[in-house]
Amino acid sequence: KKVMCVIGTRPEAIKMAPLVQAFSAAPDFEVCVLATAQHRELLDQAFALFNISADYDLNVMMPGQTLPELTARLMTGLDNTLAEARPDIVIAQGDTTTVFVTALACFYRQIPFAHLEAGLRTHDLYSPFPEEANRVLAGNLACLHFAPTEVSRGNLLREAMAENTIFVTGNTVIDALLQTADKDFDLGFEWPRNKRVILVTSHRRENFGEPIEHICQALLELVETHQDVFVVFPVHPNPNIRKATDHYLQGHDRIRLVQPFDYGPFVTAMKRATLILSDSGGVQEEAPALGKPVLVLRRDTERPEAVTEGVVKLIGTNKEDIVREANRLLTDPAAYADMARGASPYGDGQASERIVGIVRDYFASRTA
Ligand code: UDP
Repeated sequence: KKVMCVIGTRPEAIKMAPLVQAFSAAPDFEVCVLATAQHRELLDQAFALFNISADYDLNVMMPGQTLPELTARLMTGLDNTLAEARPDIVIAQGDTTTVFVTALACFYRQIPFAHLEAGLRTHDLYSPFPEEANRVLAGNLACLHFAPTEVSRGNLLREAMAENTIFVTGNTVIDALLQTADKDFDLGFEWPRNKRVILVTSHRRENFGEPIEHICQALLELVETHQDVFVVFPVHPNPNIRKATDHYLQGHDRIRLVQPFDYGPFVTAMKRATLILSDSGGVQEEAPALGKPVLVLRRDTERPEAVTEGVVKLIGTNKEDIVREANRLLTDPAAYADMARGASPYGDGQASERIVGIVRDYFASRTA
């Protein structure tokens, strides 16, 4: 059977990579990879680390492109590629425009679509925008749902998805993390000695404008309050983020703005950090497995498991809230130890193997 894996952005590449590897190792499957390259540079980095090459590349990224323009370009490109490649099943991960359009393009051609990381919900269609709607729409068109946890399975059941199409597999991000975490990667600069490092990432659309400015102001206050604290901030290439970080944080001797790390070095940076401030989805899943507390720079999350566990905390983007919550962890060892105790609600590193088995059974049951 021919499996097509569609990948648009860096987190999709990281989470699909273990699955591409597992299908490639299975003699009864042929795998092809379609890169839409919704985000070009970061996607290419992740492909290189996991030794993946694209069989098809739509290269849809254009400067200043609107969501409708992106959607239209993706739809035409995907449909042409489906017609040419004729896969038996298509898999895409997560909640980008790439994933929603893939699901719809497959529906029009009546090709089974399987959704990886299915069932994540904030239950607010506009938050995050447009990701929540993308995953709801993709989920409604999927024949197989690979839900990372029981919580995500429950969300799908409440939306009346057929029970026998939902499988709790764990999240493949833990497969990727465990492959990567035992090595130490070169960071490209000297990690600050004898300092407690706060690692920061931000890229969400909802944090463009005032929120990212508040985040930067909070970081300035934190390094001023604690002389042993150092900030490492890999800045997302989006100009809305870069403008604010350059304006507020450039030139401070205990704040280091760097290019986005390749995945290997980023995992090394997470391991060395004391504390992580992030609006990223993947980081909320990875950091608990590494025993690193995360303060999430958002109002809500589709990943409540680690919040319930107490190792991730939602704090929003008010300057005062960020400063207060980070100060607490930097000054109260018991509070810190509790959040840094390590937990892995998102999987055991075997998700990809499970998924290959489920797809095999799916085809067996259709021919039976
Ligand atoms: N990541 C990376 N380099 C960085 C920052 C993040 O490789 O400089 C990884 C991170 O470990 C996680 C993924 O990128 O696996 C998260 O991507 P992002 O935050 O862009 O998207 P989200 O997870 O929010 O969809």
